[in-house]
Amino acid sequence: MKKAVHKAFHHKAGNKSKSKHRNHHRVACNVCGLENFQVDRYKCLICVNYNVCAQCFEKHLQSEQHSTGHPMVHFKVPDELFGRKIKSKDEITIKTMEHLYGKEQHEDIPCDNCIIQSISGLRFKCDTCPNFNLCQMCAIKNTTNEKHKPDHPLILVSHEVIQKLNKKNIELGDPLGQGAFGTVYKAKWSSKTGRREVACKVLHIPAGIDSLKLEKSFLRELSAYAEVDGAYILKLFGYSTFQNENSSMSYYLITEYMTKGSLTDLIYNQQQHERISLRQKLCIACNIATGMRKIHDHSLIHRDLRPDNILVTDNYLTKIGDMGLARVLDEYLDHTQIGCKRYMPPEFYDTGMYDQKLDIFTFGLSISELFTETQHQFKENRIQIKKSSPIFSDLIDRCLEEDPRYRPTAMEIEATLNLYLNEFDSKHSTGSNYSTLPLDEQNKLVCQFYKAYHSDAVQIIAKQYPPIKRLSIHSLSTEKSHDDKSKTKCKCCIQ
Ligand SMILES: [Zn+2]
Ligand SMILES: [Zn+2]
Ligand SMILES: [Zn+2]
Ligand SMILES: [Zn+2]
Repeated sequence: MKKAVHKAFHHKAGNKSKSKHRNHHRVACNVCGLENFQVDRYKCLICVNYNVCAQCFEKHLQSEQHSTGHPMVHFKVPDELFGRKIKSKDEITIKTMEHLYGKEQHEDIPCDNCIIQSISGLRFKCDTCPNFNLCQMCAIKNTTNEKHKPDHPLILVSHEVIQKLNKKNIELGDPLGQGAFGTVYKAKWSSKTGRREVACKVLHIPAGIDSLKLEKSFLRELSAYAEVDGAYILKLFGYSTFQNENSSMSYYLITEYMTKGSLTDLIYNQQQHERISLRQKLCIACNIATGMRKIHDHSLIHRDLRPDNILVTDNYLTKIGDMGLARVLDEYLDHTQIGCKRYMPPEFYDTGMYDQKLDIFTFGLSISELFTETQHQFKENRIQIKKSSPIFSDLIDRCLEEDPRYRPTAMEIEATLNLYLNEFDSKHSTGSNYSTLPLDEQNKLVCQFYKAYHSDAVQIIAKQYPPIKRLSIHSLSTEKSHDDKSKTKCKCCIQ
């Protein structure tokens, strides 16, 4: 009780609350009604005073006059856009944006509707179609084509996709851990709107590598990934680069700071009082699936999806991190740093040819680890599951199929996990004592529900995503050679 009073006091007054509020968007979401939210804010440029929180945005929810296809502004940081201060109370309209960013030149980025070869002025990017850009005129007209539908969200983007930050404005703190490609530190970043807590990944590139070429390719790749963002993908605020005395190069990648650390931390460092329920784990799996689906929608492969690269923040909101890093650094670091090999699928070892189904495999291993709190075994380039999951064991098995074609798509996985979660929540939100039960009882209830709902769910999903027919060995080998054309050898992009 005392603790709560103390907390409430701090919430009202004192510096602590001020710095805490710096991370909150001081508006209300017009869909769910949430006020002062911490997730990203999307502001409509057509409707007056219309804001959507990132979670409602991700679900394509809309209300009142607003359509999801309206051009919008995406605030990753409160009151700050593309490194410029913009107050919440200021009128944020097409006109004001035109005044601020109307002179930007988007070199070699054509409008995908009209004849403009390099967009100048405001550029809008479709959040659903891969690499689809519109000039201001075409965005406002709500232009559509076969792929780009009227309800696809359009987001204002800067010519500088990733902001270059001044190293002086970044102050490193304690190390948070050793990531796949370098050390991650807790850090303070003095942005235009104040000092904020961030994470900083420090990468060292040995001397002797063409640093200009590296920076170019680094930026090109990271930009492709930075354009795919959303509620379940770790936010990248910017980067900084500098040369060290021994002429090696260092890169700082500034991302949001996730308070609960990685999924690995969450799974293996659970204190007795902080154990995660099975339902919570299902929410986490849904978050990862949506993040992965979005990456795949944009024709990209993450290539290093595993519990170390999945990060968790307050309320167990989960995001995928390290987008594009595997692809960028692999080329320069001689394959030595590539992900964690124990998560890689058979095709990675057998032919070196892979596609997005590589992510499905590593996703399967990640959720198996999440649900069972046990890591798989890895021997002679093959994985072996040591403990069967109490829920979704058949989905996990399908993700781990030897032949990548039989693995489900990210879209099917997302639909499957959400189907169970929504059904469970609708049964237990009202008139149920679920929330008052001890954790083990709660988990038992989830398992019972899963078993009872399973055959209905399988039918619902099979209707939406008909299972692929198994082919005979002969047709399999001819199909395979045809398929290989779309695959990549040691490269990340399948375009
Ligand atoms: Zn909302
Ligand atoms: Zn609108
Ligand atoms: Zn145009
Ligand atoms: Zn689109």
